[in-house]
Amino acid sequence: MSEKKVSEQITRSNQASISIDWSYADAPESTSHVRFNKHYGLFIDGSFTEYNENQSFESINPANGESLYRCTEANKSDVDTAVKAARKAFKGTWGSTSGTQRSHYLYRIARMLQERAREFAVLESMDGGKPIRESRDIDIPLAAAYFFYYAGWADKLAYAFPGKSPQPLGVCAQIIPWNFPLLMLAWKIAPALACGNTVVLKPAETTSLTALKFCELLQDIGLPDGVVNIVTGAAKTGEYLVQHSDIDKIAFTGSTGVGKVIQQSIAERQLPATFELGGKGAFILFDDAALNEAVEGIVNAIFFNQGHVCCAGSRLLVQEGVAEKVIDLLKKRMQHLIVGDPLDKNTDIGAVNSKEQLETIQRYVELGIQEGATCFECSGSLPTTGYYFPPTILTGVSQSSTVVQEEIFGPVLTIQTFRTTDEAIEKANNTPYGLANGIWTDKGSKIFYVGNKLKSGVVWSNTYNKFDPTSPFGGFKESGKGREGGISGLHAYLKLDHNGGMY
Ligand code: NAD
Repeated sequence: MSEKKVSEQITRSNQASISIDWSYADAPESTSHVRFNKHYGLFIDGSFTEYNENQSFESINPANGESLYRCTEANKSDVDTAVKAARKAFKGTWGSTSGTQRSHYLYRIARMLQERAREFAVLESMDGGKPIRESRDIDIPLAAAYFFYYAGWADKLAYAFPGKSPQPLGVCAQIIPWNFPLLMLAWKIAPALACGNTVVLKPAETTSLTALKFCELLQDIGLPDGVVNIVTGAAKTGEYLVQHSDIDKIAFTGSTGVGKVIQQSIAERQLPATFELGGKGAFILFDDAALNEAVEGIVNAIFFNQGHVCCAGSRLLVQEGVAEKVIDLLKKRMQHLIVGDPLDKNTDIGAVNSKEQLETIQRYVELGIQEGATCFECSGSLPTTGYYFPPTILTGVSQSSTVVQEEIFGPVLTIQTFRTTDEAIEKANNTPYGLANGIWTDKGSKIFYVGNKLKSGVVWSNTYNKFDPTSPFGGFKESGKGREGGISGLHAYLKLDHNGGMY
């Protein structure tokens, strides 16, 4: 294991300066320096409210289980203040800001994210547990890419929807999960602002840091007050936000369970709402595929971001004739995966986001074994402090096994075999979810045949977990409704004549 020293120095009562000394040979850079506060208020109407210890909660660094910072738990009155600030900005400054000007703000945000990418990447890994290689190469660059993409649309909405007189919806309530904190924020805020809306966004309670850091960036670029408001907190704060009577749109990303609760609670209000929920993606591997490449694909599909990915390829469906060979190759490959410190550039699999999530994963694997599965896990050592789970595969499962039907949201892959193409399609579609699937084959015709029959918002072929701001993303069945990304992502934030935006 490489040597890395992280020293923390309290420079002011409210600020920690973390200086990271990358002292191993192929470190990303010799020294990185990031700053964040030990305490955060809420970001409302362009500034941070005063932090109040009696109304606060702690965020833990999952890599070591230690406290990282504290932030404010927004109560009903705080949420109301945030919505009022967003309403005032919508009626005032932002409402009279032209598409061209909005586009300039979004470009500035995108550029600033690029300039501060290293800092955001380190914070994201410390707060959420994901490997620095992923936050540095995927999360932060992609977040910037979404702002760039929607910056380009802000002054061209009339061309995106010719003859439809696109108008913003108003104040958008946005709630995001912990698995891609800054990226999910970008998926929500960039299209909303491009379309002329204002927002109140609630990050997940275990990963508020990059959203709060993002507010400092907004202050630096001079975004008008009240256009973006960030309220931190857990489920209760989320409830206050979605139940507020003066919001015009809800955009929720999170679990199917919470998504259903919100849908029920707003059923009578006819609010435009988008839901990006859970998934149980199948990775369908045919016997004509390039097997070594496919095994790399499987590793990326299920072990990327510790498997905390809604569209993870968490079910391998492999054609019978090559199943033994593939499983053998996969087991060998898994022995080379390094589970460890998220800030180490050599780490493949970082920390599980929270103790609760670690326990959920453990529970599912135990249940899988009780239901008859055979468990194989990577034998490499795990760090002794913090929340870690080894890459794991479960064989001997059936279509009705709980671990095949339910989202585990961890580095756990179930493996089933199939004989015919139609059997693979049947198995892939036979869960309550419909978010993403992957097909691995040498035959283009098979990709089109299978792809057309899979009930999922995304189908990758001979690749997996690839994201692009120009592509719509979203689910069928219990994976949600509405789309984010691409022009569909604009549609979700606009009134188009009489019924636009009503996804
Ligand atoms: P979660 O549903 O527990 O929480 C999501 C967010 O909702 C958090 O901010 C949480 O505080 C808030 N929340 C919880 N209860 C609430 C309530 N009653 N009212 C309002 N807000 C409430 O999900 P999670 O554990 O944070 O995230 C993991 C889930 O998110 C997985 O199921 C994953 O598949 C899904 N996800 C989906 C997508 C997608 O694009 N489809 C992307 C990322 C994650």
